Amino acid sequence: MAVSFKGFRDLMPKRTMAEKVLGQALKYLGKDTDKNAKYVLKAVDHIASGEKQEMVREWFHHWMREDGPGRQFLHRVVQNTHPRVRERYVARMVAGMFFRDPDAPGRAEQKFGIQPPPVMLISPTMRCNYRCEGCYAGSYERKDDMDPEVFDRVLTEAEEMGINFITILGGEPFVYPHLFEVLEKHPKSFYQIYTNASLIDEKTAERMVELGNIAPQISINGPREYTDAVRGKGSFDNCVAAMDRLYEAGCAFGFSSLVTSKNMDAICSDEWVDFLIEKGALYGWYFLFMPVGNEPEMDLMPTPEQRDQMRRFQSYVREEKPLLLVDFWNDGVLSGGCIAGGRLYFHINHRGDVEPCIFCHFATDNIHDKSLVEALNSPFFQGIRAEQPFCYNTLRPCPMIDHPQRMWRIIKKHGAEPTHEGAETMFTELAPEMNEYARGVREVMNRAWENEGYKNWAARWMYHCGLPPENIERRRREFEENQTSQEELQESVDPAKKPKQA
Ligand code: SF4
Repeated sequence: MAVSFKGFRDLMPKRTMAEKVLGQALKYLGKDTDKNAKYVLKAVDHIASGEKQEMVREWFHHWMREDGPGRQFLHRVVQNTHPRVRERYVARMVAGMFFRDPDAPGRAEQKFGIQPPPVMLISPTMRCNYRCEGCYAGSYERKDDMDPEVFDRVLTEAEEMGINFITILGGEPFVYPHLFEVLEKHPKSFYQIYTNASLIDEKTAERMVELGNIAPQISINGPREYTDAVRGKGSFDNCVAAMDRLYEAGCAFGFSSLVTSKNMDAICSDEWVDFLIEKGALYGWYFLFMPVGNEPEMDLMPTPEQRDQMRRFQSYVREEKPLLLVDFWNDGVLSGGCIAGGRLYFHINHRGDVEPCIFCHFATDNIHDKSLVEALNSPFFQGIRAEQPFCYNTLRPCPMIDHPQRMWRIIKKHGAEPTHEGAETMFTELAPEMNEYARGVREVMNRAWENEGYKNWAARWMYHCGLPPENIERRRREFEENQTSQEELQESVDPAKKPKQA
């Protein structure tokens, strides 16, 4: 079927237009890979607007070149997913992430006093059917779940602000009995669900395809011995069986892996990534082990050198494999650094606490007492945004682990309270280890920044990431004077000034 993009541009808001154009293009793809690529690139050419999107458009053309991994990726999208999923999930994801309406932030600011982030994370339950080592999800009960009316209200408020990319976490989201009932009320948004996959039976997979706007992210820690060691015997097989069901049903899915010092080599390997591609995963997220919680095992944290290994592996995968691999820290170069505090995302936990980042368990506001707009406008969140980027070298984006005292200073300044016991440990008891880690990251990543071209393209790109130019300039000067890290690492931690326990 021939589809014309003519007329779309004038008739509808730009994001809707981008979703529609891409949705139509992806929905009607056929078997001819080259023809499909031409068709999708034409759609991308049609919707790209402004300097930033022009750069993205150029990258798309490079990635989708004749022998490029993008062409193969597109072929896999067509092969693996139902047309409805391509239209309602894949197209929205691409439009929302790469081709957002450049005028929307300004319009939103006039209306809400804030530029809303594109992504919201929400954990409606902390319950889980697994009892993984070191995880405290097993201690929660049904009464601790988020009320479905509150979940629904938050999604409504998010949509009103233009936030339509929703990531659902837990606990295990599929144990939450109201999950589909609430999501079905919001068909215009699209959802990533982080799951241990054990509850994805055929019916659940088909239901997600029927809705079209849901993609599970299967949490898997590496080959069988690594996944089973953390999540229990049989958990790896559960993941693989769920992948087969999702593939059969035509559901888009990805994976997420917690990267530790122990599984790094296994996860950063051709064998592992090729296995996931073969199982049908379209994309994946790598998250570093973070020392959050009461007594985190510091030796699980990848070393700075391992983090660099992950960076190199991820760049290699992006250039060579038909899989989109996202590295939550090293991809700071693409997001213009830290995305927390509502700059590009935030998290609401099952109790309604509004946290700046999935790894920063502190809050000043709760969604039961505040609207989403008010929570995103809180002085705490504003304080975080005012400091971003936290470093000119966006390979060191994180105010928690790369500049450990920066987030702690903001937390203390605004009296943010921990949302669970031990949330402050990494800033207090573990400060010496964290400072040492940050020193190592500084050395390794400054070298990469200097020697591998980041100081040219990533620095330029940062100016297109919606950050106040004066913030970038400030960080540039600090970086060039080589002061940033020395100053912050010399700061002593004063545990007496800890915020009071929740
Ligand atoms: S605080 Fe760290 S982990 Fe969280 S978004 Fe910022 S850089 Fe990422």
